[in-house]
Amino acid sequence: MRYDRSHECWGASATVLTLTAKVPWYSNPDQVTLLQQTVEAYRQGCNWVSGVVDTTHGLQQAALHTETYRPLRAQFGLRSQMAQSVIKTVIAPWTRVRFTKPAFDLVWNRDDSLKAGAFSLNTLAGRVPIPFARQGMERFFDGTWQCGTAHLVHRHGRWFLPVPMTKDVAETDWAEIRQVVGLDFGINVLVTAYDSQGQTTFFPGRAVKARRAHFKLLRQTLQRRQTPSARRRLKRLGQRENRWMTDVNHRVSKALVVRYGVQTLFVLEDLTGMRGATERVRRRDRYTSVSWAFYQLRQMLEYKATLYQSRTIAVDPRYTSQTCPHCGHVARGNRDKRRHRFACQQCHYRSNDDRIGAMNLHRQGIEYRVTGAIAAGPRS
Ligand SMILES: [Zn+2]
Repeated sequence: MRYDRSHECWGASATVLTLTAKVPWYSNPDQVTLLQQTVEAYRQGCNWVSGVVDTTHGLQQAALHTETYRPLRAQFGLRSQMAQSVIKTVIAPWTRVRFTKPAFDLVWNRDDSLKAGAFSLNTLAGRVPIPFARQGMERFFDGTWQCGTAHLVHRHGRWFLPVPMTKDVAETDWAEIRQVVGLDFGINVLVTAYDSQGQTTFFPGRAVKARRAHFKLLRQTLQRRQTPSARRRLKRLGQRENRWMTDVNHRVSKALVVRYGVQTLFVLEDLTGMRGATERVRRRDRYTSVSWAFYQLRQMLEYKATLYQSRTIAVDPRYTSQTCPHCGHVARGNRDKRRHRFACQQCHYRSNDDRIGAMNLHRQGIEYRVTGAIAAGPRS
């Protein structure tokens, strides 16, 4: 029996929320063998059809179907739906490809199999029910989610069944927003939040920073050794670091939406451009990993805010750390980056620089609510 930890991907567009649930499921050794044989037959079928397409230059589905459907069934033992799926998979890319790790569509009776607590998987031996763990998945069964077609994938010796789940979410009306929270992302302080009550909350980042440094050290050690096993370990290390960072971001984004509750407007910096991120992170190698983590945190916050009847906006980060929240004076010299201090050269207002960032984001959120526009530059 095998248990895969439940995991999620995310993505939110206007009103449709899509999560990809990596459903944890159980299978016995016989079923695993059967699934392996099925995936292998599917892979070989894909490669064979790809070869046919390459020699005949025929990409029209009807013609290809006539030529390949019967052999796929007879020689590769594929069942009808799978043979059709192979043909569709091969047509999708336009150049000849070698299929090494194919994923195949599971056409399953979604609602029935979900209720019964088992997936009905299409294999060489027909449909096989494979039970899955409902624990941690409960919210997907509340009747508001619809599930899409899953692709069964086999990676690193494990089976995954990512199921796209979608639900319609009514976007919270601007009139319902009752508070604005500015969120400044950083390294030493992961997130600094400034809210409408004038309170500042810090999510400390030192432990995360230390762990990241630890990963970096291990990475450098492995990079120096040029052996195949070191390369494998390096790859696994990268995956472990990603999982850990993803987990941290899940917890931080959850803590934020829970702390501020429904009808909150979160204002964050748009760090997709290089500018904002390089300002904080000088070293180039650090830039990539940190900006990836910020981007992920932002995405998670966006979808969780939607689920919590809240909203998010991202603003131009250029002046958030140089603007005095007290008098509006903008100057690079207002901020002492090295000592993490902010001191306004005009009105002498002083504070911690992360807090200043969050305060300015909060103010931009308030302005956005009034004017409906995000202020791009310094205040006049
Ligand atoms: Zn000032």
